[in-house]
Amino acid sequence: MSVAQGKAWGGDSVPCNTLLPDWADDFLEMMRDFWSGELKWNCSMADLSSFRVGGAASVAVFPRSLDELSLLVQGLGRMNLPWRVIGRGSNILVSDSGLEGVLVVLGRDFCSMERIDIHQREHVLVRVMAGCSLAKVLSWCAEKGLSGLEFVAGIPGSVGGATAMNAGAFGREISDVLNSVVIMDRAGTLRNKSHEQMQPAYRSWNEGPDMMAVETTFKLKKGDPETIEARCREIIAQRKNKQPYHAMSCGSFFKNPDGIPAGKLIEEAGLKGFQVGGAQVSEKHANFIINTGTATAADIVSLMKHIRQRVLKKSGIVLEPEVELLGFVNV
Ligand SMILES: Cc1cc2nc3c(=O)[nH]c(=O)nc-3n(C[C@H](O)[C@H](O)[C@H](O)COP(=O)(O)OP(=O)(O)OC[C@H]3O[C@@H](n4cnc5c(N)ncnc54)[C@H](O)[C@@H]3O)c2cc1C
Repeated sequence: MSVAQGKAWGGDSVPCNTLLPDWADDFLEMMRDFWSGELKWNCSMADLSSFRVGGAASVAVFPRSLDELSLLVQGLGRMNLPWRVIGRGSNILVSDSGLEGVLVVLGRDFCSMERIDIHQREHVLVRVMAGCSLAKVLSWCAEKGLSGLEFVAGIPGSVGGATAMNAGAFGREISDVLNSVVIMDRAGTLRNKSHEQMQPAYRSWNEGPDMMAVETTFKLKKGDPETIEARCREIIAQRKNKQPYHAMSCGSFFKNPDGIPAGKLIEEAGLKGFQVGGAQVSEKHANFIINTGTATAADIVSLMKHIRQRVLKKSGIVLEPEVELLGFVNV
């Protein structure tokens, strides 16, 4: 670790006397000529994830443009530094010891959306940048009378995160309405991939951690704005009724094995309300692990392990996490 000398350029200043990784100076040098975005050293992951737990990422960067992002990715490759992209952090659990390397956050500067006027008999194409929240896309679609994405109402993620996770609910998933994705690879090169060229699966786009979704084009249908809005309201009401909607969580913690609801298996194992430290199996929906306010990432992982053991013993089924675990060794 080295101690920064209060360098201040291209975004946030680095606080004096902050302990920085050994590669900090080379990293800043690499970014010097192109970077204008924000940059936070020792960035608390509890602030960037909906579980509100986790240690610090060495540095979190918030690029302002595709060019900047591409140059950053190329530089990180040259420096051989590990990095990971996130959106709204609503499906990640970060270890208490944090994340070594660079966290790339696609946020407000990756938020534009537009209707593409390509004449298609059945569909209307809508292009959305990865940092846009699903809630924002949905309200834009409702206003414009574009139907197809209503099933994501109430999912608190970004378009990039939802594309990478192939997010789904109410019997539908993102791949059902996916036309194409613009993907940035490790070399910072952009490629347009059509739905036919991809192999999305249950809660995965199957492109590997090296790939970044920067823009997704959805194929939607014309619909009545009021009906679309009413359907979204109805779905959110159902979520509030059945899920601990406002609790600190990442939604469903485990994947449903072969279509069997994981929540049912957890409930049958007698675990509703079961608690480890500040982490609890929700009383409302057994597949939600919630942070009651004092949970650490270690509490959540201990609870996860306990649930897996008990479900395996009771039903012979192995539960796999849907939430992405970051920064853990041998979990
Ligand atoms: C209350 C609640 C309800 C939820 N309900 C649902 C639900 O019904 N259905 C469902 O599927 N999910 C649900 N989720 C989980 C989560 O909201 C979704 O998976 C969402 O799509 C994640 O988006 P994000 O931007 O938060 O992704 P993040 O949590 O930031 O990242 C998730 C993963 O995607 C990767 N990623 C993020 N952005 C990109 C990108 N641009 N390119 C490539 N990879 C990327 C990350 O590296 C990470 O591996 C729920 C979560 C909560 C808190």
